[in-house]
Amino acid sequence: MTRRDGDNPGARVRFAPSPTGRLHLGSARTALFNWLVARGSGGDMILRLEDTDRERSSAEFERDIMDSMLWMGLDWDEGPDVGGEHGPYRQSERMDIYSGYARRLLEEDRAYRCYCTPEELKERKNAAVGEGRAWRYDRKCLGLTDEERARLTAEGRPYAIRFRVPEGEVTVNDMLRGEVKVNASEIDDFIILRSDGRAGFHLAVVVDDITMEVTHVIRGDDHLTNAVRHVLIFRALGAAPPMFLHHSLLMGPDGAKLSKRHGATSVSDYREMGYLPQALINYLALLSWSPGDDREIFTPGELVEEFSIEGVSAGKAIFDMDKLNWLNRQHMKMLSDSELTDLVIDHLDRSLARDKMEIAVASVRNGMETLADIASQPLDIYVRPAGELSDKAAGELVKSPDIEEALDLLISTLEKHPSNGMATAERIVDDLRREAAERGWKAKTVLWPFRLAVTGSTVGPDLTYLILFWGPGGCADRVRATKRTLEERDE
Ligand code: GLU
Repeated sequence: MTRRDGDNPGARVRFAPSPTGRLHLGSARTALFNWLVARGSGGDMILRLEDTDRERSSAEFERDIMDSMLWMGLDWDEGPDVGGEHGPYRQSERMDIYSGYARRLLEEDRAYRCYCTPEELKERKNAAVGEGRAWRYDRKCLGLTDEERARLTAEGRPYAIRFRVPEGEVTVNDMLRGEVKVNASEIDDFIILRSDGRAGFHLAVVVDDITMEVTHVIRGDDHLTNAVRHVLIFRALGAAPPMFLHHSLLMGPDGAKLSKRHGATSVSDYREMGYLPQALINYLALLSWSPGDDREIFTPGELVEEFSIEGVSAGKAIFDMDKLNWLNRQHMKMLSDSELTDLVIDHLDRSLARDKMEIAVASVRNGMETLADIASQPLDIYVRPAGELSDKAAGELVKSPDIEEALDLLISTLEKHPSNGMATAERIVDDLRREAAERGWKAKTVLWPFRLAVTGSTVGPDLTYLILFWGPGGCADRVRATKRTLEERDE
């Protein structure tokens, strides 16, 4: 990665999740866009945990968010665990910083003390609603005289600090949506510091983005209305707002925000379901980004190379499980047998040697859409003792035409090939077909008993893999063992 330097300043971006749940696919997409911009520009990725909601935030969710990001390969340069020059990176540890800025706004008359209690606010709100008026903070405390304020302070009345929204038009310049203009008269004087000393969401975000020197704010478009307030705070603090990009939210097939009722929503769910991180990343990137042509399959490295903000569309992002499954298949195909074996090794029998494991995996991988599909593959055949037959396999063998001659033909053909390998395996199967034809048999007359006798089962992978796994001699031995089993049954 190229680092920022004077000539080529990279973007400083941040992913700012609230650790109030496991990492949602929609948030993972936000993290991905930020990461692609950071890595593509040689800039910095910041992980900031917005944990001001102490009741709903937990260390467990923090862990899940960080683990899920790392599993996807979305690393960060600054964050709560790795530190950095602009820390701390948990909002709960930055309260003093926020209160300093709130006091500054107060002194500069850009904010004011509000002594209204929650009960008073509720009463006035109810009255307004009762009269059919829209409620917005009525600026009661903005109108307090100096004496009134001094009296309330002397009484020790707790107060919050509210931002005094200035008059005029506010413009958010969004890279995706252009200029979003809002008349400030539509905006409430919002709280920037609560009476218990905790910062309000908007102040915390803006102070962090200023002090962390964030250049691009990339987040879901549910924050577009917040951005208006943020621009006001940036201005009040004399700071230029960063570049904004509010991307569309991830929706379920019914057009509603992707939620549990659509199925699995967290990255860790998809990890457990056996999806590859590179497939998930490819899928999430393609949801609102296109390279400008019809390519669809990208490795993470290719995405870093090719992703550009100009290629992001504001259109709806609808989650499509079939597409994800298709991409997962494509990325699974790119793995070597050895790489795939590493990923499913927990499902493989430990008694198998590594090279045998790889053959076993190679033999069933076509039937897999996800890693979890390994569990339903017929791998038991590879650990079944020679001569052991399922009832079904035994029944099939007994009723197979010319079975004794077919089994002898199998043994003699296999034993003509001392070496092993895919080419040999294919040759053996060809030889068997020819031998069958010479006898006026269907190929099945010899190939079906091959499977049954070698594996003891009616289901399993392509015959060539069986030869590769046990070797021609090993297969011949297994056919012999099966013959003995059949003879013993007869006795
Ligand atoms: N903490 C906010 C969230 O999880 C993100 C705020 C931001 O990106 O500015 O939605």
